[in-house]
Amino acid sequence: MKNSFYDLNHSDLEMVLNQNDLNQSAAAILFNWHYKKKQNAQCCEKISKGSLAFFQHNFDFSLPEIDTVHESKDRTVKFLFKLNDHHKIETVLIPFHNKYSICLSSQVGCAMNCSFCFTGRQGLKRSLTTSEIVGQFLEAWRWLAKNRPGEERILNIVFMGQGEPLHNFDAVKKACEIFLSKHGTSIGVQKITVSTVGYLPGLKRWRREMPGVNLALSLHSPFAAKRNDLIPINKIYPLEEVLACIDTIPLNKKQFITYEYLLIKDFNDSPDDAEKLGTILAEKSAYINLIPFNSFPGAHYKRPELEKIGKFKEVLDTFKIPTLIRSAKGDDVLAACGQLNSKN
Ligand code: SAH
Repeated sequence: MKNSFYDLNHSDLEMVLNQNDLNQSAAAILFNWHYKKKQNAQCCEKISKGSLAFFQHNFDFSLPEIDTVHESKDRTVKFLFKLNDHHKIETVLIPFHNKYSICLSSQVGCAMNCSFCFTGRQGLKRSLTTSEIVGQFLEAWRWLAKNRPGEERILNIVFMGQGEPLHNFDAVKKACEIFLSKHGTSIGVQKITVSTVGYLPGLKRWRREMPGVNLALSLHSPFAAKRNDLIPINKIYPLEEVLACIDTIPLNKKQFITYEYLLIKDFNDSPDDAEKLGTILAEKSAYINLIPFNSFPGAHYKRPELEKIGKFKEVLDTFKIPTLIRSAKGDDVLAACGQLNSKN
């Protein structure tokens, strides 16, 4: 089987050219063609016929195919992609002022088995390759160009779809390198966010291998017993160790770590929970995202009432930690956080 062209970052591409006695300058041209112009054909005219033939002969240029598209009333778009081996994954475009954030999946299913997450119910089928990750971006962009012309502006990338991105570190890292490349999509490093449950082996690599990329931690409870219930991997990588590791990540002046906190009715939504959360985050460069629980078929948790959510935030405000209550977008088509499951 041929290797995918879209598994190569810019320096891999230079190396391939070099090893095959082809002109290295073709790397920038090919990146520009595929990632900036987002052309899907292999017919880039600006490189030599020899180089073009070499790539056509040796590399696979296929990408995940869009299987189904759900458009929400609020203009959120959920894509179901079909992969080469017929597994399916989901990707969501979240609109803001005619621009978009894209929520990418990193795995088919997920091994973390969090009790509140629809994806976790599937178990882990397999991790995605880099080409399947960048493919979600390219195909979503092309869909916008065709269906919402003039709106094909995807300015933020968040790894908050299906899967635990740090459990697929190498492929996610390479996808980020491709997104960041100045020869291609040239997405700013501050515009990429990777969300994790606190998968410590990945976090330990973060500082050296993902400099500048934004990190979000799904915290969900400051209390060990409750966090164990929600995120079973907390028993192996406890929150204290995770937070200590995150504290060693250098941040630039305006950068924060985002702490995501899922609010579940009568479980982790009391003023005591908020007080403890505020206490452990007070001294950090923290930004809190409160995510009221989004329901899905078979869920046994509930979302707290608005008033309770407001009270929770009031407690956090006393710690002067910037806190945002995240509004659910796309929940009419099961595209909101935690509602992604490959069968829809
Ligand atoms: N595995 C990573 C990436 C997935 S991100 C992580 O957990 O961080 C998905 C985000 O949606 C996480 O913050 C997750 O906790 C949250 N989420 C999962 N299920 C949810 C649900 N039912 N309602 C609201 N948010 C949910």
